Amino acid sequence: MSNENKTIHEFDFSLICEYFSNVERQGPGSPEATLKALGFIDNLTSQSRIADLGCGTGGQTMTLAQNVPGQVTGLDLFPDFITIFNRHAERLGLERRVKGMVGSMVETLPFEKESLDLIWSEGAIYNIGFERGLNEWKRYLKKNGYIAVSEASWFTAERPAEIYDFWMRHYPEIDTIPNKVAQMQKAGYVPVATFVLPENCWTEHYFAPCCQIQEAFLKRHEGNQTVKELIAGQRHEMALYHQYKAFYGYVFYIGKKI
Ligand code: SAM
Repeated sequence: MSNENKTIHEFDFSLICEYFSNVERQGPGSPEATLKALGFIDNLTSQSRIADLGCGTGGQTMTLAQNVPGQVTGLDLFPDFITIFNRHAERLGLERRVKGMVGSMVETLPFEKESLDLIWSEGAIYNIGFERGLNEWKRYLKKNGYIAVSEASWFTAERPAEIYDFWMRHYPEIDTIPNKVAQMQKAGYVPVATFVLPENCWTEHYFAPCCQIQEAFLKRHEGNQTVKELIAGQRHEMALYHQYKAFYGYVFYIGKKI
């Protein structure tokens, strides 16, 4: 299909996918942080069913799958990410246990009620919203099943106007860690653990690989306004992080369904 036949949205999404397909992670995180979160989860066996919602190209899913038994399903809205995800699984010899599928986390999920032992979601629950995600996804978990999600959170009770306004525009559901834990409790989980993702989850594992591909991406799409804006937005986000990282970050929240 030529670009003239595409809607603006299709075009934007395909550019965003192309950009993020070139990096291992589409958000802050690291194998060490994934493994640390996994350390709070017990009782997984070869019969376990695990879902990674908003899995992207599967950076964290592969770490997960290499360290737990059972079947792992990655779900993401973008088919291109799922194609890369399944290629990764195959390359690692995990394709019998790890499958990526296209789907939306805000719709009915392709799992039976009370069938999952673990729901994982790194840097993606914001697409449905933290509280709504915790509430709606709970029905797919078995009793005593776990949820592990990473979510943007405030570290302080007060924060500078510039970073407050940025988050209010992009994700007003950002909140403090105690408030997020209270939401988890209210949604019917025992809050098992929380921890702040270390700075290198942003700098080394997310920003640095993105920086490496930005110039080539700009060159490949020279003159394209959407691409210019996408990269400018990325660079702005990185500058804000460096300036205001004392006030916010990503936090892992691990809960057990009551
Ligand atoms: N979990 C990956 C990681 O940490 O690298 C990806 C995180 S990225 C910030 C957010 C992901 O959510 C993207 O892969 C995006 O395609 C996916 N996404 C956005 N809306 C979605 C939806 N409604 N259902 C499923 N996935 C969605």
